[in-house]
Amino acid sequence: MTKPHIGLIGLGTMGAMLALNIAEKGFAIAVWNRTTTVTRSFYAEAGALAAQIVPTESLAGLVAAIERPRSIILMVPAGPAVDEQIAALRPLLDADDLIIDAGNANFHDTNRRAAQAAPHGPRFLGIGVSGGEEGARHGPSIMGGGEKADWDRVAPILGAISAKYQGEDCATWMGPGGAGHFVKAVHNGIEYADMQMIAEIYGVMRDGLGMPAAEIGAVFETWNKGALQSYLMEISAAVAKATDGAHPMLDVILDKAGQKGTGRWTVIEAQTLSAPIPVIEAAVMARNVSAQLEARRKGEALFGAAPQPLPKGALSLATLEQAMIAGKILCYAQGFALIVAAGQEFGWDLPLPAIARVWRAGCIIRSSMLEDMARALEEDPARGLMLAPFFADQLRHTCVGLRHAVSLGAAHGLPLPALAAGLSWFDLMRTGRGTANMIQAQRDFFGAHGFERVDMQGSGRHGPWGGYM
Ligand code: NDP
Repeated sequence: MTKPHIGLIGLGTMGAMLALNIAEKGFAIAVWNRTTTVTRSFYAEAGALAAQIVPTESLAGLVAAIERPRSIILMVPAGPAVDEQIAALRPLLDADDLIIDAGNANFHDTNRRAAQAAPHGPRFLGIGVSGGEEGARHGPSIMGGGEKADWDRVAPILGAISAKYQGEDCATWMGPGGAGHFVKAVHNGIEYADMQMIAEIYGVMRDGLGMPAAEIGAVFETWNKGALQSYLMEISAAVAKATDGAHPMLDVILDKAGQKGTGRWTVIEAQTLSAPIPVIEAAVMARNVSAQLEARRKGEALFGAAPQPLPKGALSLATLEQAMIAGKILCYAQGFALIVAAGQEFGWDLPLPAIARVWRAGCIIRSSMLEDMARALEEDPARGLMLAPFFADQLRHTCVGLRHAVSLGAAHGLPLPALAAGLSWFDLMRTGRGTANMIQAQRDFFGAHGFERVDMQGSGRHGPWGGYM
């Protein structure tokens, strides 16, 4: 074995799989884990790939095992653990060695770490890695951030281990500093929304149409062959069809969802950037509500259960499919608009079509629709997906189904927060004369904030109330 150029710290779920992936692609790699027994068992279970792996039992040992200039991947929990590892590595590394944080860092932390690294080194990259354990082992989607020259240094390895879409690597440099982790955060927000919309449609089928889980699974399986083809639809079909021998799994799983908070970061950032992402916001809200099980049970006891069966024939599965397609397009339109807003705010030239492309394989939100999105964004990145002819055409057809499903849901107590949020946004975005004139009048009334008139030039006008003229 040649001396490795790359090392990895943190042989947990993701780190172990990434290390095996790197070794399998023919790159020698040195590894170190805080708990030494983990390193030993990882190495012992690596099989033939052990020939490409150098296990080490101290940080200094890891650094010594890697050829200069070194690149070291951190795959430890986001937050203080990353700062601790950087602080421990810094005295051991040369200025042109490279630390790569591949965990789910908040992009503000990545910006800070990149800025700290810039003057004296060691160099620093923050990369978002998506695809879970399976993706890490066989091909994740990789969203890189940092100096382009540093990315180029490790791009051959990151490209080789990444997922492939029709032969293309799903590993792309997004921009400086925290750009890669920002794009990963938007990915995670969209992931929350995709999952929530599928869960809402499942709820309509279960409570509104009275369908058993296996039947719902069969519908999802069919949808997965059409416009909604995606990893999340595929696994939703699989979980809906699964049983524990006696019961459908979905019927015995508590309806209380966990989260690591990455969706929340996306929402916070969108609020800070004044970029509306209501579908993702609704999805994060719904997860939070799901956790309030006791409160929900009290609500049901006091007011009666909200969901009611739909009248026979009121809603077809084809209409539900249209609703899901429209919701998905609207959600992605919002997600990409958030990316544009961040690019403007942080001075990043974020490559929108390349972002759609990097999500086509390896990551949780991979879907066939992303290929069409990449094409639409390539035609005119600034235009936004809602106005792109291909998706405008799709929305014209599918928004009828979305409206029908959302209104039936409202009438029969079937909660559809994400789908309804998508529809409201769509309606707002196609209303040339909105209602914010009322807001402006109110603001002027109580705070003399002034307004513009539709029939005169200039701002700072006041109404004939409270003495303001
Ligand atoms: P795990 O909990 O499985 O593993 C964590 C690893 O980090 C372990 O090797 C652990 O070592 C090590 N570690 C923990 N704290 C420290 C510390 N203070 N100093 C040094 N090493 C430490 O986590 P995952 O592999 O799931 O996640 C790693 C990163 O990847 C996270 O940022 C996560 O958000 C991100 N990620 C996870 C995905 C997933 O599907 N799991 C998907 C995409 C990204 P020890 O054995 O000593 O405890």
